[in-house]
Amino acid sequence: MKPVILQVALDTPLEGLFDYACPVDQDVPPVGSLVLIPFGRREVAGIVAAIIGESQLAPDKIKTILAWRRELGPLSERWLSLCAFAAEYYHRPLGEVALPALPKQLRGPKPEPLLKALRKLAPEQAGPRRRKAAKVNPDAAQAETPPARSFGHSGPISDDAATPPSLNEEQAVAVAHITGQPGFAPILLFGVTGSGKTEVYLHAAAEILARSPDAQVLMLVPEINLTPQLLSHVQARFPDQPIATMHSGLAEGERLLNWLAAHTGRARIIIGTRLAVLASLPGLAMIIVDEEHDASYKQQEGLRYSARDLAVWRAHQLQIPIVLGSATPSLESWQHAESGRYQKLALAQRAVQNAALPKVGLVDLERDKPKQGLSDALLSALKKRLESGEQSLLFLNRRGYAPVLNCESCGWVSSCKRCTAFMVLHKPEQRLRCHHCSLEMRIPRSCPTCGNIDLQPMGRGTQRVEEGLQAVFPEARILRIDADSTRRKGAAQAAFESVHSGQVDILVGTQMVAKGHDFKNLTLVGVLNPDTALFSHDYRASERLFAQLMQVSGRAGRAEGKEGGNPAQVLVQTRYPQHPLYATLAAHDYPGFAAVTLAERAQAGLPPFVHQALLRAEAKTLEAALEFLQAAINAADDRPPSVMLNDPIPMTISRVADLERAQMLVESSSRPALQSFLRAWVHQLRHTKSRVRWSLEVDPMEI
Ligand code: ADP
Ligand code: ZN
Ligand code: ZN
Repeated sequence: MKPVILQVALDTPLEGLFDYACPVDQDVPPVGSLVLIPFGRREVAGIVAAIIGESQLAPDKIKTILAWRRELGPLSERWLSLCAFAAEYYHRPLGEVALPALPKQLRGPKPEPLLKALRKLAPEQAGPRRRKAAKVNPDAAQAETPPARSFGHSGPISDDAATPPSLNEEQAVAVAHITGQPGFAPILLFGVTGSGKTEVYLHAAAEILARSPDAQVLMLVPEINLTPQLLSHVQARFPDQPIATMHSGLAEGERLLNWLAAHTGRARIIIGTRLAVLASLPGLAMIIVDEEHDASYKQQEGLRYSARDLAVWRAHQLQIPIVLGSATPSLESWQHAESGRYQKLALAQRAVQNAALPKVGLVDLERDKPKQGLSDALLSALKKRLESGEQSLLFLNRRGYAPVLNCESCGWVSSCKRCTAFMVLHKPEQRLRCHHCSLEMRIPRSCPTCGNIDLQPMGRGTQRVEEGLQAVFPEARILRIDADSTRRKGAAQAAFESVHSGQVDILVGTQMVAKGHDFKNLTLVGVLNPDTALFSHDYRASERLFAQLMQVSGRAGRAEGKEGGNPAQVLVQTRYPQHPLYATLAAHDYPGFAAVTLAERAQAGLPPFVHQALLRAEAKTLEAALEFLQAAINAADDRPPSVMLNDPIPMTISRVADLERAQMLVESSSRPALQSFLRAWVHQLRHTKSRVRWSLEVDPMEI
């Protein structure tokens, strides 16, 4: 008897599927099954993507599968076609999308982690681990579901969210729209900061979950440090629903447990970062993308996918509602709303009574010369908050003490020897660090060139601001939150909790503190050095700056002001107070900003009116990288006229970790034309021998 041939997707850059035989005396694993196969000298996991009668290969070339993870249950056809879409859209083999989407322990050579996790998940073993804030859920439809639990993690429960506030009119309209449409109905929930978007998500989720015992709701959030707060809200609100979380901060065992809870349908609510968009969710009935504009939805290495875009595709595939929420939507989504592809729902007011959007003031640094980076206007506003026991936040998107160390006598600067970048001074750690290649060294005692011992830090990062503030306000409790201060697991969560519980007077931080957090007692936001983004070569820089400043401003004045307290205020220190971007910011006018910026983009032929892809090359020399790109252009002679190839250019930071980097932009006004060109072209490039490392990014976010 001839063996059945399984076509298996593997995590390798080689194109196509791989043929393996199924042992004749064994059941044939269905499509979607996870199998273990011999590949070269290794044993690796693969997913059965097709079953065929006969292979094109000679019978002696065909190896037999080693194991079938039957206990897992096959991945669904729908899940496979999601992966197939992503593979095609981003021009990667199916296996490079599908396998990395599975937890590592599942892909290992041993079945034990899977079996152990399945045992833990079995309902009779689950044990009612009730949470402190869990109240009896009044919703009868949910009374029979298993006891409250979340899988292998604990989140903070402190929380008044268990009793939902009654929705205001705008929120109620939004919930009714989201849950009231049959089929695919993408909704852009444009809600100003503090307008209560979370309440809308929670109510819509409750409605969807109540409709079917199998329904699952996926909530995507931008970053891990935002997850605890939303997670605790959701746990408090849905004490009887099993919740799974997915983010890169989970240990491997936890990751497997949570993934399985989703895959088996046990978890009803799944909260995760971008990688969760590729989770196996048999009952998926609604998707929420919170802060949909956020750059972290874009994976920046390997498969450079946009989780937001894949979420929209997935909602379309399943014909289910999807909500994209933001106070500062991406211009792509805004344009879709303008053109009618998405429906726009607005929450124009802050939800808490008497909580008003803060007044935004511009501090002209030419007139108000800063000391320690802080203007008089900002210092006196800080002083007022300290006197009245309110919190302040200073936002500076630059970590470290100073971006460069400099010798004034000979002009030496702390350049990284592996990158075209400076090494950043980190004073508490007493190190110089390159933020691009992670090279580190001790701070030199004297100038390496001339021996001068008086080396000067130039510029200002969060550490230096913290130091300066402490000198001005020795009594104040100052906390810095950035990637350096929160490296330890759980440190970010602990830091945010100390802000929420009132143990901090002034918070200094990078973009980590800018978004999402609902700080109740914060009435002042100071923005220290935003100007550089105004003159960036990257056309998206102003969009990012505007969103960031709106978001960080949105941290102020979120609660009802207290008696004798200060009105919510934002102070932006700038050398360009006349710049139109700051005027729209002061007016809280996102639609105005979007209209002007979209008009500029249309005029200049930029996204979202044009579609782009970026071919990047890395080599030992810049010449080799540029040559590779030029050869790629030459190879693309039979392209459709609507596809344009630009000249190859070095990247802005051209050398990183001793590799020279260059890039070339491909553009087209037609997405189908661009895609079909890329398909043939990438195939051709794959089959060209070259020592240059290259990658293609579709819809690049940074150019
Ligand atoms: P957003 O995500 O839109 O910035 P949040 O969802 O964090 O806003 O809500 C801001 C604050 O408003 C929270 O403290 C929340 O509890 C409160 N809130 C939301 N909806 C209502 C409502 N209908 N009535 C009163 N307070 C509300
Ligand atoms: Zn010197
Ligand atoms: Zn470096």
